[in-house]
Amino acid sequence: MGKVAVCTAAVCAAAVCAAAALVVRHRMRSSGRWAKAMAILKELEDKCGTPTGKLRQVADAMAVEMHAGLASEGGSKLKMIISYVDNLPTGDERGSFYALDLGGTNFRVLRVLLGGKEKRVAKQEFEEVSIPPDLMIGTSDALFDFIADALKKFVDTEGEDYHLSPGRQRELGFTFSFPVKQTSIASGTLVKWTKGFSIEDAVGQDIVGELTKSLERVGLDMRVAALVNDTIGTLAGGRYDNPDVIAAVILGTGTNAAYVERAHAIPKWHGLLPKSGEMVINMEWGNFRSSHLPLTEYDVAMDVDSLNPGEQIFEKIISGMYLGEILRRVLCRMADEAAFFGDTIPPKLKIPFILRTPHMSAMHHDTSSDLKVIGSKLKDILEVSLSLSLSLSLSLCISNTSLKTRKVIVELCEIISIRGARLAAAGILGVLKKLGRDTVKEGEKQSSVIALDGGLYEHYTKFSNALESTLKELLGEASDSIVITHSNDGSGVGAALLAASHSQYLEVEDS
Ligand code: ADP
Ligand code: MG
Repeated sequence: MGKVAVCTAAVCAAAVCAAAALVVRHRMRSSGRWAKAMAILKELEDKCGTPTGKLRQVADAMAVEMHAGLASEGGSKLKMIISYVDNLPTGDERGSFYALDLGGTNFRVLRVLLGGKEKRVAKQEFEEVSIPPDLMIGTSDALFDFIADALKKFVDTEGEDYHLSPGRQRELGFTFSFPVKQTSIASGTLVKWTKGFSIEDAVGQDIVGELTKSLERVGLDMRVAALVNDTIGTLAGGRYDNPDVIAAVILGTGTNAAYVERAHAIPKWHGLLPKSGEMVINMEWGNFRSSHLPLTEYDVAMDVDSLNPGEQIFEKIISGMYLGEILRRVLCRMADEAAFFGDTIPPKLKIPFILRTPHMSAMHHDTSSDLKVIGSKLKDILEVSLSLSLSLSLSLCISNTSLKTRKVIVELCEIISIRGARLAAAGILGVLKKLGRDTVKEGEKQSSVIALDGGLYEHYTKFSNALESTLKELLGEASDSIVITHSNDGSGVGAALLAASHSQYLEVEDS
């Protein structure tokens, strides 16, 4: 009996020793892994650094490229597309107008009743229609017939308030957010499809012509008065709300900017100078690149693997389509080289674009003391359970390991999103510099307002806060004269307003 007890005690002691040795080994291994993870984090932080001096270089490079793109066609990575919009809404617009917004899997039809300065947008109605996937890869006729048909059904529900005087044709502002070579305010040829659309016979065609043919086919008498993209629609909607709006920036799936340029500052424009002396330029700034941009190995690899390598570099480090993917790539390296999620890389983590920017934003904004949102996101999306990661024994032996891990994820989100936000602010500074609005002039009280829109700006609060504070930091005392406004979905109403300011009936009314 005594012998058995001694024996059992010895076995227990041995087991305890073995366990202790295991724990020590684990601790040593884990501290090595942890050090590696920290090294990867530190390296990312260094490479993504955006000190003020660097941002100023980016802003200067943006302004230089803007000059080059305005000087000649193909003179810069920035296309600086002449939009033919030389009249932005003033508030005097009256009458009923339609708008169509096509740029993704849904399109929207909209009608507004404009009542001049007193009544403003007196009434508006809209409907959202999803595009059947087969039409996104079918023929031009099929897509535009579908759109025209939906528009006709919408027009059929028009209430009396919207009725035009007899003999007047309905007019439409068409927001088409794909690359277009604009040929006039209401015509432009499609350069290429993006965002999952692929309709070969539409490439090279005049988009307005295609829509107009379909409108005729369905028997809808409507004239396309303006063809614009979402940036220009946002600028128009922003200007309508505030006459000091001089530029618009979209931060959504992608990113782009448009602004009001002096017509005489556009050397590549050979037409008559517009009466207003102004012209809206669609910068296509997503394609900006510069040696001053802080790029990492993750950005380079993501670009190489993308559908458009070498293109849209600015967009790829700033916009909603990519931020989550950059995070995934960093986590992949941590999983591989620092066993960040245990001994194997979670299979889901290897799937490109599985970690979306809204997920990243939710994790970044996690305010719970144990960061449980991060825990549940990682579990739901990557099927990683952090309490089991870094091996079960470790998480039992060293308390808070998983919290430590979650905190690293917050830091990664911070580094990646703040780089994007600060670079977007540098881009805005570049536009202000080009316009000479980045400094305060003696005795002048000039206010410049920039209208921002897009899901990233709207929903990723830490991103938008960082953008705004960075702009203040860069502008110094001039920051009092620069205002950022959120133009909530201004682009739909904006297109209808542009139809109004480019209406065929304007001249008649003015004379
Ligand atoms: P689009 O740019 O496609 O026209 P939106 O302006 O609505 O459409 O932007 C949608 C994009 O905004 C999404 O692709 C996503 O990247 C980003 N986004 C949406 N919601 C969030 C969110 N909660 N946090 C961060 N980014 C978001
Ligand atoms: Mg949009």
